[in-house]
Amino acid sequence: MEYYEIPSFTRTNLVKHAFSGRKGGFSQGKYSTLNLSFFTEDKSDNVLENRRKFCTELGIDLDSIVCAEQVHGEHIYNVAETDQGRGAYNRDSAIPATDALITKDKGVALVAFFADCVPIFFLDPVQKVIAIAHAGWRGTVAKIAAKTAQTLFAEYGTESRNLLVGIGPSIGPCHYQVDKPVINRIEEAFPEKSSILLTERKNGFAQLNLWEANRQQLLAVGVPSANITVAGLCTYCMQERFFSHRAGMLGRQAAVIMLK
Ligand SMILES: [Zn+2]
Repeated sequence: MEYYEIPSFTRTNLVKHAFSGRKGGFSQGKYSTLNLSFFTEDKSDNVLENRRKFCTELGIDLDSIVCAEQVHGEHIYNVAETDQGRGAYNRDSAIPATDALITKDKGVALVAFFADCVPIFFLDPVQKVIAIAHAGWRGTVAKIAAKTAQTLFAEYGTESRNLLVGIGPSIGPCHYQVDKPVINRIEEAFPEKSSILLTERKNGFAQLNLWEANRQQLLAVGVPSANITVAGLCTYCMQERFFSHRAGMLGRQAAVIMLK
């Protein structure tokens, strides 16, 4: 099993966190092998065994995880200790229609699933609050990353200068070609930055840089550049290590973070 950490988060010694690779699990075919999401047509027993193995590897209790039904929206949910176990063993108990989770409760593991969309990890080591957000192009245009940061500022006392952010493995500008409707939405959402976010424009298509679009919206709400770590790992380029939806795979990686 392979998984990835954000060095600035590890250094705080406040959290357990990881972004999974796709090796070392039990699933087969297009879910091969460490598919961690129930929101797929994979066999539930395999997903559960994969989750048990991943959680054991990280020293996280499966009963403590909280998952949402991700819908490419902008709804943010404040997770409490009483939510533990939601979405852990099946899809029906997941928090509905939510793409970002926040908690200040220790021992509650926030989990979200990805296969090209951008995982965004948040840690305020001063107020001791964490969050995870899921941003494809729709979530990026909706500015779910910035809204998650602003929720931390407004509701959890986070100061922007203290907020650490990690932008995890996801589809890179090298492989994310988008069409005119998406180009239009990016130009509307980032009028000053569209020339750096959209490159190689021709015939109504362009390459979109979701990493930079999420980084820019975090800078715009005051998160210092030095606090933002971009993994820079493209899931399409690295199909041996990661599931990539655009490469035709159906499994999902997990991002997990928990205050110790
Ligand atoms: Zn690539």
